[in-house]
Amino acid sequence: MKRLEMKIIEEGSVLSDSVLKVDSFLNHQVDPVLMKEIGEEFARRFSGAGITKVITLESSGIAPAVMAALTMNVPLVFARKRKSLTLREGLLTAEVYSFTKEETNTIAISDKYIEKSDTVLIIDDFLANGQAAEGLIKIVSQTGAAIAGIGIVIEKAFQDGGKLLREKGYKVESLARIQSLENGNVEFSEEALV
Ligand code: 5GP
Repeated sequence: MKRLEMKIIEEGSVLSDSVLKVDSFLNHQVDPVLMKEIGEEFARRFSGAGITKVITLESSGIAPAVMAALTMNVPLVFARKRKSLTLREGLLTAEVYSFTKEETNTIAISDKYIEKSDTVLIIDDFLANGQAAEGLIKIVSQTGAAIAGIGIVIEKAFQDGGKLLREKGYKVESLARIQSLENGNVEFSEEALV
């Protein structure tokens, strides 16, 4: 997605060879116009898949996921990372190691909000080693719902997550694929994906 690539070049900052900061439009301040386009692009790429629900992880997945859900006219459910007094029973949980926070969290979704008859689209802001997506897959798998695929705003193609998920047979659609962050430069991948 060209506009997203331009935005990454113009506003992203490379924190290290493996971490990109995009706080001005995705991870802290949010650009709603870009998020709307992102949501529409996800809806286009997964059209015809019979999606009944979008799921993501709080907090940075919510903006792109809600726009995808709005375009597809289906609900969005976000997994919580922190324990909540109001969310205690009937929880579907998975352990997720956070790439950026370097800690393991238990993520949770109420079993009320995913049903066996659902076809789910998983959305997240970044794909690195695939832990967040795998955690959401584990949660959905506990319900017997179908997984239509995984939509990612920014995939770092030099890390293993995309390869692992595609090898497992999941359809992974990434709107920007970064090949390298070496020497402070963002290089996008031109590689065609089958
Ligand atoms: P994974 O679970 O695939 O290893 O990492 C994905 C998660 O870690 C995403 O939910 C995202 O929040 C965070 N993440 C991974 N890499 C980056 C990065 O380069 N920049 C930012 N801002 N977040 C990242």
